[in-house]
Amino acid sequence: MSWPLWVSLLACSGPPSDEAAEGVAAPPAPNRRGVQTPPLPERCLYGLDPQLAQRLMELDTLSRATLMGGGWDGAREAKLGQSLLVTLKGRVNLRQDPRVDTLLTRLNLGGVPLRFEHTAWVLDEANPNAYALPGGRIVLSAGLLALTEGDDDALAFALAHELAHVELYHSAAVYQRLWATQGWADPAWGPLLALTRHATSATQELEADRLGAALAQRAGFSLDAAEALLERLPPAASADLSDLFGADLQALPPELRALVLDGLGTHPNVEARRCAVRDGATLPL
Ligand SMILES: [Zn+2]
Repeated sequence: MSWPLWVSLLACSGPPSDEAAEGVAAPPAPNRRGVQTPPLPERCLYGLDPQLAQRLMELDTLSRATLMGGGWDGAREAKLGQSLLVTLKGRVNLRQDPRVDTLLTRLNLGGVPLRFEHTAWVLDEANPNAYALPGGRIVLSAGLLALTEGDDDALAFALAHELAHVELYHSAAVYQRLWATQGWADPAWGPLLALTRHATSATQELEADRLGAALAQRAGFSLDAAEALLERLPPAASADLSDLFGADLQALPPELRALVLDGLGTHPNVEARRCAVRDGATLPL
């Protein structure tokens, strides 16, 4: 996708309509600006093409600035996230888990001012996976719980990574781009959920690793477990696109399809992610 098109997509953004979340009570959400983090250090960008990494970071910054100035306040974001969660519950079985809730409470109260009080739901899926809906709703797979059984530090890092995606506006930015696309007047929830899972950029992944590590450490969790977990997770970029998206991807407008494919094609390698975790350990918050 060319740069001018990106800019035009971002420039004509607007919040989702109230009808999108009709019938869903908006949970209280403070309209805070959230955690501010410096750009990723260059040493953590290896494995990515330097120019592409630069372009992605510029886009992420622009996207975030547009969101913060474009009427996407915390209440609006929380309302959209809740609406997506309700829709997801209509498709699959979601449950809450006491172990997850305990870890998440520690992260919520870890001493860093967050934009949302985050909640998490477990999906019956064997692959280790997690993703973040806007507004602080995290969905993780039963496979991730199994992979981290007996290792709360590792699971806490996985949760903190998702929490960081929300706090850094990555989840909301996906939808901002969606609503900014001309002709996207009738949101179909399948594609929306597919986007939530797969449309973060390589640099956003590293940002989430870094802030996630910082939040986990502040809450008293060990980052050794975080690095070990990165070694054990299957690389997302190796997944088969047709399996991941199916008909959902085909339903997206071409511009957004390109966005998703761009993001997947540049997934950071494990060494870059470990570098981001170590940088998170010294991140001033
Ligand atoms: Zn992520």
